[in-house]
Amino acid sequence: MISVRELSFSYGSRRVLNGISLEAKPGELVCVLGQNGAGKTTLFKCILGLLRGYTGEVLIDGENIMEMDAGQRARRVAYIPQANRPAFAYSVIDMVLMGTGARLTGMSGPAEAEYKAAEQALNKLGIGDLAERDYTRISGGEQQMVLIARALAQGAKTLIMDEPTTGLDYGNQMRVQKQMRQLAAEGYTVLQSSHHPEQTYMFADRILCIKDGKVFREGTPQNVMDEMLIRELYGLEVRICEGTDGKARFFEPV
Ligand code: ADP
Repeated sequence: MISVRELSFSYGSRRVLNGISLEAKPGELVCVLGQNGAGKTTLFKCILGLLRGYTGEVLIDGENIMEMDAGQRARRVAYIPQANRPAFAYSVIDMVLMGTGARLTGMSGPAEAEYKAAEQALNKLGIGDLAERDYTRISGGEQQMVLIARALAQGAKTLIMDEPTTGLDYGNQMRVQKQMRQLAAEGYTVLQSSHHPEQTYMFADRILCIKDGKVFREGTPQNVMDEMLIRELYGLEVRICEGTDGKARFFEPV
């Protein structure tokens, strides 16, 4: 569970976040929207305890992130990076083992329990058969699933993802989002950013829109997403059309 209270952060004299508050509870998938440079990554870095020098508070499961050591933080919150980053040639199982804090080199290899956690995480996501493959030689969609498995092997119940579908084809975008939705349904707390406002109707319980360092709007996509919001966030004129099932929406540029 994440509670952010009145968070403000500046790079030098440049204020990027200005009094941001947010809550994400177990069972929820909360999606942060905002144009490039709005401060989404900065917000996530503050929540992960990677940036200091902010005012306000970040609590994970009710405890201040600043008062946790690296091990305590890792047991509570996991960061899932984007898949399309250069990677070293590890096997899939080694990538997932890294989430357990296992040592892959030197005298002591990963313990049996760590292997089990890594294997379980791969099996849970239906990619156990990839275990011995070279991470750099599987598809982008598979790599993203491996990075999710790594976070699960870490054992943290709060998952943070920065634009998890960047660079993935449509099918893999949907598979990744469906998986994150499923993890939220199992009781994980999921906080992610997205550049696809129309997709949030399908998977987000709540959206949080950031503009000028502040929370501009917050609520369910159904309640807060409208033409005005898209104009304010992205400077784009659209018409939002409802699908025949009354749930899906698509945006038509005007
Ligand atoms: P987003 O993830 O929404 O694209 P970021 O959090 O990456 O936004 O960036 C927010 C603002 O802070 C941007 O204007 C960016 O240029 C600036 N910024 C990001 N990282 C740094 C840094 N290390 N030093 C100075 N400014 C930064």
